[in-house]
Amino acid sequence: MKAAFLTGVRTIEIREIPAPRLVRDDDVLVRSKAVGVCGSDLHYYLSDSVGMDRVSYPFIPGHECAGVVEEVGGAVTRVKPGDAVVVEPAVSCGTCDQCRTGRPHTCRKLLFLGHYGELTGGMAEFALAPERNCVPLPAKMSVVQGALAEPLSIALYAAGLAGSVRGKTAAILGAGPIGLCAAMVLKAEGAGALFMTDKVEARVKAAGTAGAEWAGNPDREDIAAEILGRESIGLDLVFECCGDQPALDQAVAVLKPG
Ligand SMILES: [Zn+2]
Ligand SMILES: [Zn+2]
Repeated sequence: MKAAFLTGVRTIEIREIPAPRLVRDDDVLVRSKAVGVCGSDLHYYLSDSVGMDRVSYPFIPGHECAGVVEEVGGAVTRVKPGDAVVVEPAVSCGTCDQCRTGRPHTCRKLLFLGHYGELTGGMAEFALAPERNCVPLPAKMSVVQGALAEPLSIALYAAGLAGSVRGKTAAILGAGPIGLCAAMVLKAEGAGALFMTDKVEARVKAAGTAGAEWAGNPDREDIAAEILGRESIGLDLVFECCGDQPALDQAVAVLKPG
């Protein structure tokens, strides 16, 4: 099969390699159809380190992956060849203490799709994943929409941490894909007035389309003053979606006390 290897900083090579084969009876071979480019993929592409971690090249990136089932192991019942699926990229072992106490995301042997030194990513013709990581796509969803399930799940989880968001005022600081996903979730769940910020003008515009009552650029505007000018008692919720210290300071400034 053809596979896109990240071979170094700013270097991608298409190589011909053998397709993965079913090994375990719960394995599913997925023909990869759509793969998102995550912020982490950009780190791997632009720099050979992520925080304290050194990237080890070459590897096949792509963890936001959706496709069509090609072949299944003998014990697989949830999906069959031809089914469209989203692949959940975190593959847990199912047997360690964390997995056995309902915390598979902190599995001691967690392996991640498209992470160097771990599992082959989706930027290849085929990817292999256990049945429990293959989520069937509803017929009304395309595989491209399916590839967005992973970033959307981050927004859903964040909104869940906030409890009920219905009627609550909120700010989302950072209107990249994660911030925009958060906006869609808040609007779908009936949140109140929504304020969004970003330093990239196209994203400020996109925030308006995603349902923000007001969207601004911190390079141009005093974010706390603009938001508090519109909601003088402060906001119920803030989602910090950019990882920037000034945004954390703005979050504290615009929140209601307590
Ligand atoms: Zn991602
Ligand atoms: Zn485990």
